[in-house]
Amino acid sequence: MIIDNHGRELNYVRLAVTDRCNLRCFYCMPAEGIDYLPKKQLLSYEEMERSLRVLARLGISKVRITGGEPFLRKDLISFLRRVRAIDGIEEINITTNGVLTAPFIPELKELGIKSINLSLDSLNRERFFKITRRDELDKVMATFHALLRHNMQVKINAVVMQGQNTEDIIPLAQLTKDYPVSVRFIEEMPFNGGGVQSPVLEWNYRKIYGQLQETFPDIYKISNKPNATAEHYAVPGYAGNIGIIAAFTRTFCGSCNRIRLTAQGGLKTCLYGQDVLNVRDILRDGASDATLTAELLKVFNSRAKNGYEAEESRQFILPVFESMSSIGG
Ligand code: SAM
Repeated sequence: MIIDNHGRELNYVRLAVTDRCNLRCFYCMPAEGIDYLPKKQLLSYEEMERSLRVLARLGISKVRITGGEPFLRKDLISFLRRVRAIDGIEEINITTNGVLTAPFIPELKELGIKSINLSLDSLNRERFFKITRRDELDKVMATFHALLRHNMQVKINAVVMQGQNTEDIIPLAQLTKDYPVSVRFIEEMPFNGGGVQSPVLEWNYRKIYGQLQETFPDIYKISNKPNATAEHYAVPGYAGNIGIIAAFTRTFCGSCNRIRLTAQGGLKTCLYGQDVLNVRDILRDGASDATLTAELLKVFNSRAKNGYEAEESRQFILPVFESMSSIGG
């Protein structure tokens, strides 16, 4: 078991298997995309597998595969098979934009993957296009329905943005009426690949909740799983539930159990902080598992208390210029 310097157990890694994406969500990257790294600079599957083995030996039991768009990386399913075989990894989940996902669902099921996070910021075709700069809503919706047909647990992630998709809050929440899904509204964060930061976050978790409460006056709070980033609510008689993730306000750092491994092998012990270790370089320098383990334990023992402390510790000038696509959202 890994316990950090603030007494929090770490058991969850988010692994970005690529920095590439087939959408261009404006809040994640500029229209022309980000400077993708040459493949050599990305972790190979072998390096990812080895890192996961070492992490699993230490106590990491849950992996989320993310990116970039995970299904853009070749041979993802074979890699997942290898992850499945790692001793100690009990749960694998995936975050995807759903554009390329549908054909892989039977294999994902076979691999024991039970839950998929599907990013979907709008149910309206024009707004979807305006946000993602791609006309792919139909494919995402086809993936949504295919996941449900296969009895996969679906969590929809929607970033709420002033002037972009606030009209979608209620239609997205209404999906929980008939479908047993979790629709989670996320505060926008500054990781947009352009260093552009809106001066104030208009749609914070309180305002999102206010909007929900206006339409659903009977909405009630339901209990959260330990280490949840979302506060969960439900509307009486509805099949699913609604979550709000205060990703910018950072209300959940006190129980944060997660670390991130970026596509280029950077280890982050907080989303708002810089990389604290370069796992790729350590592995390519020929380090033994014992050396990597010692380096990991060092950084696990010096985690920032919360996202504000991590942000302050950055050596570079704010606002951050990274994209969630290379960090691994
Ligand atoms: N391509 C996959 C997808 O779209 O789900 C995985 C990677 S994507 C970076 C992961 C999540 O990060 C998505 O749900 C996306 O909406 C979210 N995200 C990206 N940039 C964000 C930002 N600036 N603020 C809040 N969430 C963001």
